[in-house]
Amino acid sequence: MEDFSFMDVCNMNIAVLSGKGGTGKTTISTNLALAMEANYIDCDVEEPNGFVFLKPDIYEKVEVMSEYPMIDKEKCTLCGDCVDACQFNALAKVGEDIVVFNKLCHSCGACEIACKYDALHYANRKVGLIERGIGYDIDSSRGVLDIGEPIAVTVIRELLKGTKSGINIIDCPPGTSCNVVTSLRFADSAILVTEPTKFGLHDLDRAVKLVNIFNIPFSIIINKGSSKDNMITEYCKDRDIPILGSIPYSSDIALAYSNGDILYELPKTKVIFDDIVSKIEEVFRWI
Ligand code: SF4
Ligand code: SF4
Repeated sequence: MEDFSFMDVCNMNIAVLSGKGGTGKTTISTNLALAMEANYIDCDVEEPNGFVFLKPDIYEKVEVMSEYPMIDKEKCTLCGDCVDACQFNALAKVGEDIVVFNKLCHSCGACEIACKYDALHYANRKVGLIERGIGYDIDSSRGVLDIGEPIAVTVIRELLKGTKSGINIIDCPPGTSCNVVTSLRFADSAILVTEPTKFGLHDLDRAVKLVNIFNIPFSIIINKGSSKDNMITEYCKDRDIPILGSIPYSSDIALAYSNGDILYELPKTKVIFDDIVSKIEEVFRWI
C-alpha cells in the first residue's frame, strides 16, 4: 500500500459532529484544525464559538440572503394553489389575502411553480452573515444566523459552498437535525465526538446511525475520557468503529477551555492531538 499523507490530499472535508451539544465538539474541531494545519469552518451558526479559541483577524464579511415570495394582489385570483404547494406552512389563505410567513419560507420555489397566474415573485432578505479570517496561521470561517431567524440551513449551505481547497474541518451543529444533515452533505468523512456516559452513548448511537446513511468513513474521539471509557470502546468494538483517541477529563484542560486557550499549545494535549492526527491518516487508508 502506498504511503498516505494529508499533504497529498487536495480536497477533503472532515465533519466533526456529536449526537448532542456540550461534548467538546468545538474543542476537538479547533485543535484538530491546528494539528492538521487545516481550514476551520464553524457550521454551528446558532451559537458559533470556534472563533473564541482561534481568534482570527477577520478579512471578509458576506451577508447571507434568503428568498421569500411576494404576492401581486392585482394578478392573484386567490386560487390557493401556492398554499397547497408549500410544505412548510409559510403561506396561508386568510379571508381575501394570501399571507406570507417569510421566516418559515425555505426558498424551495414550489409556490412559484404552482401559480398559474404569474402572481408570485421573490424578494430577498438578510438572514445571516459569513465571516472569514486568519488566526494561528490557519484560515477560519463561520456562519452567524441573525437573532430571531428560525432556519439555519440557508446560512450553513452558503458557508459550505465557499469551502477552500485543502483539508477542511467542518465543526457541525449539535444533535442530528437537518442542520447537521446539511453539513454532512459536504463531508467526505466524519469524526464523532462523544463522552463516556450513558447519555453520551445514547447520543453517539444516533450520530452513528445518521453518518451510516451517508456511507462515508468515520471514527470516534472520546472527550472527557475516564475509567468509564470502556462503555464507548465496547460499543465501537462491536461495530468495528475505530477510536482515534481520548482527551482526558482533567482540571487543567477544563481551565484552559474556560480561558479560551488552545489545547494544542499545552504540551500534554499537543501529544494527544498529534497522535490522533496520525491515526486519522490510518483511517483514511480505507478510502
Ligand atoms: S418558496 Fe417554498 S417554502 Fe417558501 S413559501 Fe414558497 S413553497 Fe413555501
Ligand atoms: S397560486 Fe397564484 S393566484 Fe393562486 S393564490 Fe397563490 S399567488 Fe394567488
